[in-house]
Amino acid sequence: MKQSLFFAKTRKESPKDAVAASHKFLLRADYIDQLAAGIYTLLPLGQKAHQKLLKIIREEMDAIGAQELLMPALHPKAIWESSGRWEVYKGEMYQFQDKSKHWFGLGPTHEEIITAIVASRVSSFRDLPVALYQIQGKFRDEARPKAGLMRGKEFIMKDLYSFHATKEDFDDFYNKASEAYLRIFKRCGVEAFPVLASGGAFTKDMTKEFMIKTKAGEDITLICEHCGWAANKEISANVSKNCPVCKEKVSEHVTLEAGHIFHLGTRYSEKLGAFFLDENGKRQPMIMGCYGLGTTRLLAAIVEVHYDKKGIMWPESIAPFDIHLLALGKDNKIKQEAEAIEGHLQKEGIGVLYDDRDISAGEKFADADLIGIPLRVVISEKTLGQGMVEIKYRKEDAARMVTRGELINIAKADLNRVNN
Ligand code: ATP
Ligand code: MG
Repeated sequence: MKQSLFFAKTRKESPKDAVAASHKFLLRADYIDQLAAGIYTLLPLGQKAHQKLLKIIREEMDAIGAQELLMPALHPKAIWESSGRWEVYKGEMYQFQDKSKHWFGLGPTHEEIITAIVASRVSSFRDLPVALYQIQGKFRDEARPKAGLMRGKEFIMKDLYSFHATKEDFDDFYNKASEAYLRIFKRCGVEAFPVLASGGAFTKDMTKEFMIKTKAGEDITLICEHCGWAANKEISANVSKNCPVCKEKVSEHVTLEAGHIFHLGTRYSEKLGAFFLDENGKRQPMIMGCYGLGTTRLLAAIVEVHYDKKGIMWPESIAPFDIHLLALGKDNKIKQEAEAIEGHLQKEGIGVLYDDRDISAGEKFADADLIGIPLRVVISEKTLGQGMVEIKYRKEDAARMVTRGELINIAKADLNRVNN
């Protein structure tokens, strides 16, 4: 893709209210556009990176047997009343009347909707388990939208829901989902760890949050380095200094919640009529779990752990392009060589952003560092004279000269590593 045609305009300054690194750099490099506080467009760069992240999520969800669907964002009031949550969610849910005076809400989450869908299709233990997920826009009237994609009023979430005939089957799936989450985070280049947390207003059950250590987070997690116990400080008011399991000292860390998984029990299935006949012909409520992961928040979290003062340093698995190809100088031979290399790389399935713009070398280098594509390739009079190209990884300092053939092999090897 020629950068002169690509829809992105980098800028030198970020708005004063942008404090978090991800907020600043995603704005400056033109991954996102702010419409209002907590409401963003994913521009072409942002959309490309987000799609890469979604591909990983879909692969891991499909691998544990979950199937994708897509539910509406617009929900009639009645279904939220059947769970009793219309009132409870008043502060957080956008609720309004249409012109016929019927009440609707924009979905902050989808337990009610999915439970009604499953209730009307599953009637026997033979139909269970069922695991369904979607990747969809959520709406929450957050009091303090913050840090760009990190906390929005509208954001994108992957939400998975599972339905089981027995507690054992639920436990088994919950563990599988938990492992899938860890694989997702690892493949996205971030280290997340499970943390005990509270299930909110609706349950005494403990839940599992997946936390990433970053100062951009809004949670405090207590961690025991000795035995690995970790809990959200919210629920650990009584744990002052020592781990409740091994009594060793615990330490406090600022963390960001990237995912949250819950045991819902039969709360929603009983209220929304999701029953099945068990092996003895007895009518039972289905046992449910739900598993949320904020995909736009995760995109920002990845930046929070991969940046330096010049800009973003994407992990190869998420970068919007694999290679940033810079042609320096006005000579036609340079352009011809750059175009030939772009074509060659593209034929190998390697994503290339080719900076063909008529601007200074310094500006091209600065933009490349800001945008954060993992491998930079420079073609200039100097490299042309040697019959070579110059390559440099965004995360490394040293550049080196390689032949065109070597470049193709290096790029293919990098791509292979990410895909396997
Ligand atoms: P938080 O404590 O950060 O408000 P939550 O407990 O309300 O999160 P859940 O309802 O469990 O979040 O939603 C599942 C996931 O959706 C979260 O783990 C997070 O990744 C993401 N998420 C929640 N709220 C937002 C938001 N306002 N903006 C972006 N992502 C969000
Ligand atoms: Mg919340």
